[in-house]
Amino acid sequence: MDRRNFVETTAVLGAGALLGVKGSVGAESEQLQGNSRFAPSAPMIGIQVGAVSFVDEGTNAVLDRLQEDAAVNTLFLATFTYGRGIGGRQPRGSPLPDHGKQEYDDAYRGGNFATPHAQYYVKTSIAPEKAPEHPGYDIIADVLPNARRRKMRVYCWFEDVFRRDVSGFEKAAEIDLNGKTTGQTCHRNPNARNFWLALVQDYLRSYDVDGLMWGSERQGPLHNALSASHDGDPTIGCFCPHCLDAAKKEGINADRAHEGFAQLLRWRQSLAGSSRPSDGAFVTFWRVLLKYPELLAWEQLWMDGLRDTYRDMYRLAHEIAPAKGIGWHIWHNNSFSPFYRAEHDYREYGEYSDFLKVVMYNNCGGPRLARYVKNVNGTIFADLTPQQTLDFMYGVQQYRELPLDRIAQEGLSADYVLRETRRAVAGSPESVKIWPGIDIDIPTGANEKRTQPDDVYQAVKAAFEGGAAGVLLSRKYSEMRLANLRGAGRAVRELKKA
Ligand SMILES: [Zn+2]
Repeated sequence: MDRRNFVETTAVLGAGALLGVKGSVGAESEQLQGNSRFAPSAPMIGIQVGAVSFVDEGTNAVLDRLQEDAAVNTLFLATFTYGRGIGGRQPRGSPLPDHGKQEYDDAYRGGNFATPHAQYYVKTSIAPEKAPEHPGYDIIADVLPNARRRKMRVYCWFEDVFRRDVSGFEKAAEIDLNGKTTGQTCHRNPNARNFWLALVQDYLRSYDVDGLMWGSERQGPLHNALSASHDGDPTIGCFCPHCLDAAKKEGINADRAHEGFAQLLRWRQSLAGSSRPSDGAFVTFWRVLLKYPELLAWEQLWMDGLRDTYRDMYRLAHEIAPAKGIGWHIWHNNSFSPFYRAEHDYREYGEYSDFLKVVMYNNCGGPRLARYVKNVNGTIFADLTPQQTLDFMYGVQQYRELPLDRIAQEGLSADYVLRETRRAVAGSPESVKIWPGIDIDIPTGANEKRTQPDDVYQAVKAAFEGGAAGVLLSRKYSEMRLANLRGAGRAVRELKKA
């Protein structure tokens, strides 16, 4: 039986079958579970958690709480980042939750929250910095034995977020259209590639963790030129020697690509100005694309760099630890941008993935989708009204939520989680586990949707109804309110009982 049939059948049988509870749903479902590798005898209930929580609240106190309140069985430790999304406490501007130290950590820097072992970093210019937040504290060394005693699994969770002042970073950075170094790594630059490979080695050789998850919340230059994301990265790259060389090998004319991007930026400016093109935004965009097909080729070239990064990390991880899983955090933009969605074919991910954490944050998804609509409504879809733009996104991405004037305040529904889970399950090979990312208290703006316990409860239930092999509570425990966390626990316990 293939997984699609399995999912459809179990949806009829009820969610209890998905959680593999014997005796409650009859022999037929037990047989189904036995026949499908997808049947989760113990679904993955994961949470992302950073060093500051263990330091502030005590390791065993945190683990007790995660087990009791949210039925968590897998920890995704934030082991490397310079960002605030998964590291540190709640940044100033958002309320601190009802646990942890009630103090903002404005001086946060980030880095490696375990212990970098220098021998693995000899082939990269990037300095392996120990995060200065917790001197002498190694998150993996501390948590792993405590988690093992509780039969909890431990994954290292690290992401492509840097600071420009990290020593050696500039030798790994993307070069933009103007020849300037950016704050992003070039996926093709050996210093960047080898840094990620060094982390893979370091985490798998220095510690007996259960697996790795890495994420890169970025896209290529064409999509950036269209502002086709919710957070509007303006980088137009990469024009570094490594990428120019790769283009040459592919027979792509870099000068033409350069010229095309310059023209595209002029097109953007014309849309913002008072004398908009008489043929409208979409037609004139397509005209630039027809004249410079190198724009598409450069986007593809950028994406190939990311795919090769996945491929190399996957290969190395499996060389070191064949039985351990490695997978990827798939950026929220996959729910908003059909352009990004087209670039991330889950079937193709099967070549280099054991699991995918597909971000389906439905609470902050409302404000984020509204922001995405605003961004593309200023570029490629400037001929449409904002609501028409949103209707188009709903239509081509096959989910439908509230109108534009309500999504920022009310968020997206559990039905969105259900549909996105089903899409991921149906679109990926059977060998790839789908673990939807569920959001709890990700900061939003004033008067925008805030997570409530029932939101989490409904989203977790929807993910399992959609055929998920687990869920991953995100982004970090240090920003989650406990009542909301308990919404996840309630859903899991109910499903187990069903
Ligand atoms: Zn490059």
